[in-house]
Amino acid sequence: MIDVHCHLEQKDYDEDLNKVIERAKQTGLKAIITCCANPADLEKSLNIVEKYRGFVFLTASLHPIHVPEYTDDQIEEFMKRLEGLKNKIVGIGEAGLDYYWVKDERQRTRQMEVFRMHIELAKKLKLPLIVHSRDSHDDTVAILEEYNYDRVLWHFFGVKDRVEWLVEHGYRASFNTLLLRSKTHKKIVKKLPMELIMLETDAPWLGFGKRNESSAIFKVAEKIAEVKKMNFEEVWQTCGRNAVGFFRLEISP
Ligand SMILES: [Zn+2]
Repeated sequence: MIDVHCHLEQKDYDEDLNKVIERAKQTGLKAIITCCANPADLEKSLNIVEKYRGFVFLTASLHPIHVPEYTDDQIEEFMKRLEGLKNKIVGIGEAGLDYYWVKDERQRTRQMEVFRMHIELAKKLKLPLIVHSRDSHDDTVAILEEYNYDRVLWHFFGVKDRVEWLVEHGYRASFNTLLLRSKTHKKIVKKLPMELIMLETDAPWLGFGKRNESSAIFKVAEKIAEVKKMNFEEVWQTCGRNAVGFFRLEISP
């Protein structure tokens, strides 16, 4: 099993990352994919991946909520930096649109441009694209439609009326502990074919009052087994295999 999306570079883990990694291993995880969403965190993220080589893998991007903090030149520069990291990252993302946190029209337009830059880079480097979308689903879908890229994982997917669309495109979706509380997410999981599903935590977030961590995907797998009326072991194995295949990780699921 693999946590395909969390943020180990967050300061929440500064004190005890070793223990967090240990607990993940004890829970049976074979890998964690950490997501660096801000250029300012890139060095720290690379160091973490180096330290836990073979267990922690990295995706990197400029998250849409951070777009307003950077100039066009800085973004251009960062994209070049990402291109140079081709062999150190396993995916581009999370990239996309976030209209929940960013209300300014001009910045939303910039988010769209930056999203396109990430898609183009993912295609060029032949790496998976990890999508983030919040209150911006129609535009996110429209931009993905502009490209014909098949290696797409929509993280934290929760768009009920886009399930068929997702399946048609063969895009993947990952689910986290919100599944334990959200009827919408349960309905989506029920409809989605198992081969498109992966597990994530988005930790340290989504701990509902306390810090979340990768070992929590165990609970997410349990819920998926319940919703899809499958046995736990089958869910655990399938989601792990899906992740290894999608990210082409050189490990066994
Ligand atoms: Zn995230």
